[in-house]
Amino acid sequence: MHFFDYKDNSLFCENVALKKLAEQFSTPLYVYSKKTLMRHLNVLQEAFSEISPLLCFSMKANSSLAMCNILVKNGAGLDIVSGGELYKALKIGTDPQKIVYAGVGKTEEEIEFALTKSILLFNVESISELKLINKVAGKVGIKQKVSIRINPDVDINTHDYITTGKKITKFGVDFDTCRNIINSRAEYSNLNIAGFHIHIGSQITESYPFVESITKTVNFIEELKKDKFEIEYLNIGGGLGIVYKDENPQSAEQFAEAIIDLIRPLNIKIIMEPGRFIAGNSGILLTTVLYLKNTSVKNFVVIDAGMNDLLRPSLYNAYHEILPIKKNDNVGNVKVDIVGPICESGDFLAKDRTIQKVNAGDIMAIMGAGAYGFSMASNYNSRCLPAEVMVDNDTYFLVRKRQNYSDLIANENIPKELI
Ligand SMILES: *Cc1c(COP(=O)(O)O)cnc(C)c1O
Repeated sequence: MHFFDYKDNSLFCENVALKKLAEQFSTPLYVYSKKTLMRHLNVLQEAFSEISPLLCFSMKANSSLAMCNILVKNGAGLDIVSGGELYKALKIGTDPQKIVYAGVGKTEEEIEFALTKSILLFNVESISELKLINKVAGKVGIKQKVSIRINPDVDINTHDYITTGKKITKFGVDFDTCRNIINSRAEYSNLNIAGFHIHIGSQITESYPFVESITKTVNFIEELKKDKFEIEYLNIGGGLGIVYKDENPQSAEQFAEAIIDLIRPLNIKIIMEPGRFIAGNSGILLTTVLYLKNTSVKNFVVIDAGMNDLLRPSLYNAYHEILPIKKNDNVGNVKVDIVGPICESGDFLAKDRTIQKVNAGDIMAIMGAGAYGFSMASNYNSRCLPAEVMVDNDTYFLVRKRQNYSDLIANENIPKELI
């Protein structure tokens, strides 16, 4: 569900014509719909209102300050995975007691930064990390709450690169290791093991993997209770799938219905970390057709956006719908590969895709680019990062200006001695 729609054959974001934005800000250009963003946040808040969880938006999905600021000002917390994300979260005034911090490779410096800012919870991914957080907490004189990230060993029907809850992945610890940690918790005198965390992967469209992993974890919590160990928090992670093509993902209501009954008896605070569900369909990437190139085996449409702007097709073979911003039912269709300017054969946005015939200069919208779009963009091929615009009904704001050439070399140094 989103607010990008045709009016008189012209594609709009809410009440702003995308053509106008492309003309004013040029392309490639990320465009976000505030209304879509808010809708997804509200849908989740409402579906789970009975247990009023802490909803921590997963910042790695989209860490643009304007977007995170909207979510935070409307009640969301943030799920962070680096010191950089913590810095940005604090910049927009996020309550540190609404920040949770995951990731297998937190450095000592990052840990100290987060400890001194009094974040709510570290989601700890290994015993070595637990020891380090304990040591640093002792050094700075803080007693810190942590959650143990459990790897519940469940399989999900998604791309291998976004599966995180199987034993072979690098994330979390298994139940036995978790139990050993609990049994030896006296060793971690500066920590309060206050919760468990599970995040089994991303773009999960069905409820059964969540049900399976939560059931396993709830049983584990009940067992520990018998041994007089109780927790305050259960973080059930993110991972809710969205529609990119013809998926039929569970709705927030269906998801809530499937899992609230499982977690209600625990009577503890629930944390959720949705990223894609909130941001994914709230953004698009506008791009201009540069060239048509027809060979004996393929018709290529070369566009001005590449894998450095939107990596998902190249990295995960992900499908993004691509729409003309001017619909014309009379021109007919063509089957094409839509490719970027990057010097890599893996630089494609769509393969063997049937689209409305296009010409050089036409503008297209790559849909569903609000999550893992800009946040994964890079300067590869020394290309400037695109600009970002946030639409709010009939107004719009440039929330990140396009990089320029001098930005590309801003941190570089050419030593005179080095020739
Ligand atoms: C990436 C990530 C999320 C968000 O995943 P989505 O699929 O975008 O909802 C949540 N929690 C953790 C720990 C993550 O790494």
